[in-house]
Amino acid sequence: MPGFELFGEEERKEVNDVLETGILMRYGFDGPRKGIWKAKELEQAITEVFGCSYAQLTSSGTSALTTAMAALGIGAGDEVIMPSFTFVASFEAVLSVGAVPVLVDIDETLTLDPDAVRAAITPKTKCVMPVHMCGSMADLDALQQICREFSLILLEDACQSIGASYKGRMLGTIGDAGTFSFDFVKTITCAEGGVVMTNSKDIYSKSDGYTDHGHDHAGVDRGADLHPFIGFNYRISELHAAVGLAQIRKLSTFLEIQKKNNLLLRSYLEQIPEVSFRKVPEGGVDSYSFLSWFLPDETLTRAFVEEMKTQGILAGNFYWFVNNWHYISKWDHLKQAKTLNALSEVQKQAILQLGQTSFPASDAIMSRCISTAISLVWTEEQIRDKGEKMAKAIQKVLLANRQNA
Ligand SMILES: *Cc1c(COP(=O)(O)O)cnc(C)c1O
Repeated sequence: MPGFELFGEEERKEVNDVLETGILMRYGFDGPRKGIWKAKELEQAITEVFGCSYAQLTSSGTSALTTAMAALGIGAGDEVIMPSFTFVASFEAVLSVGAVPVLVDIDETLTLDPDAVRAAITPKTKCVMPVHMCGSMADLDALQQICREFSLILLEDACQSIGASYKGRMLGTIGDAGTFSFDFVKTITCAEGGVVMTNSKDIYSKSDGYTDHGHDHAGVDRGADLHPFIGFNYRISELHAAVGLAQIRKLSTFLEIQKKNNLLLRSYLEQIPEVSFRKVPEGGVDSYSFLSWFLPDETLTRAFVEEMKTQGILAGNFYWFVNNWHYISKWDHLKQAKTLNALSEVQKQAILQLGQTSFPASDAIMSRCISTAISLVWTEEQIRDKGEKMAKAIQKVLLANRQNA
């Protein structure tokens, strides 16, 4: 799954180019940088590899989401519909621009259920934000239809699905804007970094200014730039961009390995009739970074997790429902509105309300779901061993369950 597993000579070479000039910042210093522009080069590569008109690098995936929302004009009191299963960064970004996260149920795609989105629309809804979790996607046709019907913005959080596609287009390039994260555990990494992708020149140039204190970047003299609006500092450094440049050149190799390893592991679980798999919408191509699968019920799933723990082989199998920081059941800090600075009353009331809201449809899915992270460095022998052990553990809990019945 993560690019850091195959870090080497190529990354060192790119970083060294930057260290040779000593110009670690992405803007200015045109003379001393001797033609080295890693961030610009990476942005260009992103537009080519993923097929979008514009790319703006940022300091993280979280700041990419914040930047995209600001550039899309999402702000005070606007409601952003997002899934109950995601990484905390998704709602952090919504809150950071003064907007209100409206969490709704997921379906077996592991992201937004279009019917749940429709039911959550109010006059304040401004944006629908699918989060393409664990390498695969939401039903984007259905969501685009809803956005057209109600004049809503579609913002894709594709941070976890670099390289997956839907009907021939790469995830993150389909909505009004989309984001990737290049943090240390993502499919390709910059150590820390992110990107806003869009086909709109306006959204791009706003993103460009917003990530650099509102600079218009119109002239050659940075000191003489105008500031048409207020921005922040969400810049990426040349050192980080250099790592990303080496990584993006290896992306197709990473994706090939992921697919091969994922399908081999899957072949072991497919032999068990009680196991089913995450739904990939028609026309979608998974990035294969995770194998996400279901057991028939929560009891069996918990028993499987216990069995794997007992055998000391649970690592890499994520039971998001209880173990991790990706599902609403674990977001007490959000539900209790624990912020350091005061939120607006509208935001505060909305997130306190989440503590009183139940998500039975999401629970019914997440309580049966395991995501197995796919490593780039597994040998075939290791995958076969893993597949056999997982299949045995599943058979064991199924048998025990039948005997108890
Ligand atoms: C990783 C991630 C982010 C944010 O990324 P950072 O670069 O760590 O800030 C946002 N959304 C999702 C779904 C993620 O997995």
